[in-house]
Amino acid sequence: RAKKAGGNRVEPYRPAFRTSGTDRLQLETDLRRAIERNELSLVYQPIVRLNDAEIAGFEALMRWDHPKRGSIPPSEFIPIAESSEVINQLGLFAFERATSDLGEWQIQTGQLPIFVSVNLSSGQLLNNDLHDDIRAILHKNRCNPSQVMVELTESLMMENPEQARLVLQKLRDSGLKLALDDFGTGHSSLAYLTRFPFDTIKMDKALVKDESDKRTILLRSVIGMARELEMQVVAEGIESEEDAIQLGQMGCHYGQSFLFGPPISSDLIQRLLKERFPLMKRA
Ligand code: C2E
Ligand code: MG
Ligand code: MG
Ligand code: MG
Repeated sequence: RAKKAGGNRVEPYRPAFRTSGTDRLQLETDLRRAIERNELSLVYQPIVRLNDAEIAGFEALMRWDHPKRGSIPPSEFIPIAESSEVINQLGLFAFERATSDLGEWQIQTGQLPIFVSVNLSSGQLLNNDLHDDIRAILHKNRCNPSQVMVELTESLMMENPEQARLVLQKLRDSGLKLALDDFGTGHSSLAYLTRFPFDTIKMDKALVKDESDKRTILLRSVIGMARELEMQVVAEGIESEEDAIQLGQMGCHYGQSFLFGPPISSDLIQRLLKERFPLMKRA
């Protein structure tokens, strides 16, 4: 585009973000209505135990079917939601839907020892009602908190670390699992592991896919550190069976990637569970 302008004219810098300012505002408005208009949904991706390839749980991932623009990926609409208070509604919507789907699976397939994992934006930790809201939803959907994981990326956690720590500790005390998401990318620092009460690390696909000859050393170190801290490790974006075996041998507990299965609808998860755990069919 800069070339087309010709000559030596310097084009003003534009962020890679595809939507313009007015577009963004429009999307923010649309997003506010998306929940009540039933445009948001969740798909679930299996999280698999590397030692026996059994399903341990599912990560809930949000999808937005926009009436005019079709499907908009979360990489586009989550940042927009995060820049306003809409993120609080989206987060609770996801939490409510995922725990209610988990309850439905349990009714249909028997009490399976699986968990659902829900992404929350770290900015939501600044919301004083978060813990109570989550407790109320768990109660309403009759969920065992130990079968629910919350995933957080660090982005806004350091804005008010003391508050973030308090809320996370309350969630832990209520029995939920807490995962530090996207570990090994840009911002995440080791300090998060000691400062906040996470019990699980999700290694980002960038780290898992790294192609340098130092990859093995890095992965081994992160997994070793996590294990010494008595944390569980999930490797995201594993691309080959070979890598899955290698990560398992290094002591990585879980894998989540297209290799084990893409994100799919709640109905398909139910079918998958019935096939995978036939003996548990109907308690
Ligand atoms: P995330 O939490 O790290 O989720 C994992 C992302 O990696 C998902 O993308 C998933 O589809 C993708 N993925 C899984 N396996 C593979 C693989 O083998 N290869 C590759 N290349 N990708 C894989 P998705 O669904 O597009 O979500 C992107 C991000 O959007 C998520 O990253 C999360 O940060 C955010 N997000 C999604 N749903 C929600 C939500 O309900 N609330 C919040 N706050 N954020 C969400
Ligand atoms: Mg996640
Ligand atoms: Mg991640
Ligand atoms: Mg991510």
